[in-house]
Amino acid sequence: MMTPLCDSTYGPPALVLPAPADADVLIVCEHASNHIPVCLDGLGLEAEVLQSHVAWDPGALGVAQHLATVFAAPIVRGEISRLVYDCNRPPEAGDAIPAQSEIYNIPGNVNLTPEQRQQRIDLVYKPFYAVLAGEIAARQRSLRVMVTVHSFTPVYRGQRRDVEIGILHGDDAIFAEAMMETQPIGSPYLTLMNEPYSATDGVAHTLDLHGATNDLPSVMLEIRNDLITTGMKQSQMANMLATWIQRALTKCEGRL
Ligand SMILES: [Zn+2]
Repeated sequence: MMTPLCDSTYGPPALVLPAPADADVLIVCEHASNHIPVCLDGLGLEAEVLQSHVAWDPGALGVAQHLATVFAAPIVRGEISRLVYDCNRPPEAGDAIPAQSEIYNIPGNVNLTPEQRQQRIDLVYKPFYAVLAGEIAARQRSLRVMVTVHSFTPVYRGQRRDVEIGILHGDDAIFAEAMMETQPIGSPYLTLMNEPYSATDGVAHTLDLHGATNDLPSVMLEIRNDLITTGMKQSQMANMLATWIQRALTKCEGRL
């Protein structure tokens, strides 16, 4: 499949929902959308694959938006599928524009020319980066934590995953550790640190680039997507997480 160069139909790669100027929490959802610009012709994938976890994080946006409402927090959300460009990866990462995802080949990402790769970087990664960096710069005085919200598939390469909530960190572990120390008593969810992924899998890009380098504490929440399949389940999960994040913020009082 020959993927054309096309600038006109990508649309903005990041959307910020407005919030008070003194918000202390920033929510980020890089994999909120499975939208593929029309000119990329679905990257040669079946509709079923484009609806699956391969193209986005199902359920994550609902949780992220509800969290943003609870905290009156700004949310920066991705508007283009991670298969076009994964905004949680630097341009030099091999899986920033994956030619394969789990068990699926991505025909529209195979044998891209340097110009085609650069176009994805210019039209997706750079503007997403700029929007997120701008939000952080504008709220330097009030922000206390950046929370990125993701979901993962319960079965990966045929293997069942038992972990239900992953608390991940990058170079700065302080907030992830505070969350592990303030887990809800009697929580029904199997919660593990740095599972089902960790920074060694290259997933800490947003945390390190926008969090650690700005001295902004951060955490990446990975939620198993079978737990957040409906709006009701997403808001219940978000309520539980919001109380938990608040406890972790209190625990860090004086340290952040
Ligand atoms: Zn994700």
